[in-house]
Amino acid sequence: MISPVKMRLELKKGINNTYLIDDTYNHDLAGLTRALDFMNQQNQLTKKTVILSDFIRSKNSSQFYSALNDLLIKKGVDKLVAIGPELFTNKAQFSVSTEFFDDVEALLGSKTLRQFKNELILIKGAPDFTLEKVSKSLVEKGHKTILEINLDAIIHNLNFYKSLLKPETQVMVVVKALAYGAGSTEISKLLEYHKVDYLSVAYVDEGILLRQDGIKAPIMVMNASQDEPFNLMRYDLEPEIYSLEQLKSFLSAYQLANKVLPAHLILNTGMNRLGFNESDLDSLIDTIANNPQIHIKSIFTHLAASDDQTQEGFTREQVALFRNGADKIDVALSYKPIRHILNSGGIVRHNEFQEDMVRLGIGLHGIEVSALSADKLKNPATLKTIVSQIRTVKAGETIGYARKGKAEKEMTVATIAVGYADGYLRYFSNGNAYVMINGQKAKTIGSICMDMTMVDITGLEVHAGDEVVVFGTNPTVSQLAEWGNTIPYEILTNINNRVKRVFYSE
Ligand SMILES: *Cc1c(COP(=O)(O)O)cnc(C)c1O
Repeated sequence: MISPVKMRLELKKGINNTYLIDDTYNHDLAGLTRALDFMNQQNQLTKKTVILSDFIRSKNSSQFYSALNDLLIKKGVDKLVAIGPELFTNKAQFSVSTEFFDDVEALLGSKTLRQFKNELILIKGAPDFTLEKVSKSLVEKGHKTILEINLDAIIHNLNFYKSLLKPETQVMVVVKALAYGAGSTEISKLLEYHKVDYLSVAYVDEGILLRQDGIKAPIMVMNASQDEPFNLMRYDLEPEIYSLEQLKSFLSAYQLANKVLPAHLILNTGMNRLGFNESDLDSLIDTIANNPQIHIKSIFTHLAASDDQTQEGFTREQVALFRNGADKIDVALSYKPIRHILNSGGIVRHNEFQEDMVRLGIGLHGIEVSALSADKLKNPATLKTIVSQIRTVKAGETIGYARKGKAEKEMTVATIAVGYADGYLRYFSNGNAYVMINGQKAKTIGSICMDMTMVDITGLEVHAGDEVVVFGTNPTVSQLAEWGNTIPYEILTNINNRVKRVFYSE
């Protein structure tokens, strides 16, 4: 079984488009306040319901219950589902819409439970009330492999990067590719709550999803192809502009709609991916100067080797070329666009180039892009699965496809519920990686299958159903990347959508 970590708030997807926040610890008003704040910070859905059991240790006073009612109203709760005799006895104190049940069994058997939909539900009660039965019956069932994201660690990492910057430097957080696999809406909600200045995504569709989930922060789209300007306008997304052709095609669409084009100009200074070359600048400036319907929100460039000490000279050349180009554009404008250069590696190694804003990506996810930030970051992501079956394999038998795994002597093998379709790369086959089961290392044996992997547990204390840590603090994403001959970015963004994301705050 996946064992619960003590004292934490968990956000999970529930049935009928609900989100569940599970909290069966600290059952007092302070704990409830914290849980309601967490609910408002996530704010996934506008309708908010609280399922609450009696407060065992509370003084049974009407004052207490009227304070409880005030708190629920203040935090925007739409409905209270109250369980237990004490809450019922004090029903006169509640003005918030309330439904009462004698006990958990009564709620479980009711039609109320089956009718929850499109709402954010906080489940909070004393452990004795077995409210986890309610949570179990509401949670979306599925694949036993989950990616747990520690939201406190994300904020810790954000604050570490901010500590390297001047207080006035703005922060754009790059949440492309599902926020590096962590879950774009939930991470964006968290970042918005912590007041980051900008978000950025790779493609228009990613931006649309964030808007549909209620994200209000400004969003830059890095690779808006030329045919989607109306989606940009409709969802208030701001395109990165990388060529004159793209600029002109967007401009005509915005002119047609009588709207100002909010443009983020990217200058190519050596990355040779997207952007204006130095030789393009004159015609770019010409176009901007002649079209007041273009508003330059920012000018930026992307470093090719920000985290590499041996490329420091090249990085400096990129910065000089950028500043030169940006100065030229500035001259043609009556206002001053935001300038930005640095990604995570750049912030750590070159904060002298922080300009007006930075673009933070992988660092938020605790990946040490530079030895300089080692030990300063916290790991937010843990990929967990379970042991499906255990068997004894006799000496001379083989394990898995193509008979790649060989039992030299009798061994015990566990099959775990994660495979390359989940993002556990086939590269990790035949002992190239280990997982942790009950604090013990178990190496892979044979080839990784699409949905399953066999690991060697000879001599270890393991049972079917036990929790398996695929990555987290040990092994780390960076270790897996090394074993898989790749980079941490690829390990994180390979985690398939069928792996349920569970968010928590401690
Ligand atoms: C992905 C990306 C970033 C973030 O880079 P990290 O190395 O993850 O911090 C910043 N800027 C641009 C243009 C990017 O494509």
